[in-house]
Amino acid sequence: MRAVSLSEDALVITSRLWQTTATAVRVGSEAMLVDSPYFPDELEILPQVLAQSGFEPDALLATHGDFDHLLGRLAFPDLSLGVAESTMLRIRGAPGEAQRDLRYRDGDHYVTRPAPLALGGVQSLPVPGALGVGSEELELHPAEGHTPDGMAVFAPWLGLLCCGDYLSDVELPMVSAGGTLEAYRSTLARLAPLVERAEYVVPGHGSPHSREDALRILDEDVDYLDALERGEERPTLPAGRDSRRQRQIHGENLRALGPQP
Ligand SMILES: [Zn+2]
Repeated sequence: MRAVSLSEDALVITSRLWQTTATAVRVGSEAMLVDSPYFPDELEILPQVLAQSGFEPDALLATHGDFDHLLGRLAFPDLSLGVAESTMLRIRGAPGEAQRDLRYRDGDHYVTRPAPLALGGVQSLPVPGALGVGSEELELHPAEGHTPDGMAVFAPWLGLLCCGDYLSDVELPMVSAGGTLEAYRSTLARLAPLVERAEYVVPGHGSPHSREDALRILDEDVDYLDALERGEERPTLPAGRDSRRQRQIHGENLRALGPQP
């Protein structure tokens, strides 16, 4: 696990698995944590790592309902977890989905946990909307397409955008179950002006980017979605995202969305 401070009031934690990010933002003594790392040892030490930099979260947020973004509760069992209405609908519509996916993935990696993931008391937040942190407000913007649910969290006072599973430097756009190409494109269009306002963009997986890097990735992602829509079997993939695993993701995207034979 890696901790990078973007400013005195923004700290990004990156998990050893899939470079999953968790971002703490602060106003005075109030702090929020967006998303989560994966491994039990990372979650166990997380409160301490945050406290060392002066962050004591008052609440948790998750950008979307995929299990790898919901694990903050394992580190902070007493805090409320806020999600977009769309994510709440997903959790209610498929109870136990996150727990099952976590169990499967833990099994793949031979990971055991001291306690199961509990999602009771999750709070639904209106999106688009705003959420107060101390004297400031986080902006919540819809971000669907990767999955059927989700939100991007923008902290205007920090110029910081946590966009969820979009604009990653390590992962191709992934259209998972319930996501659509059309919604994915709308989300990229919605993120563009937010990126323009941002100094830092933190993707759900990968490294924090500058505005310029995020805009370049956004262009690459639009090009990739075009190639996907054309059904290209071997498109040129963006530099840094052309590994065997990313080709597999492309294959999965094609099967899910590509033109039927
Ligand atoms: Zn993810």
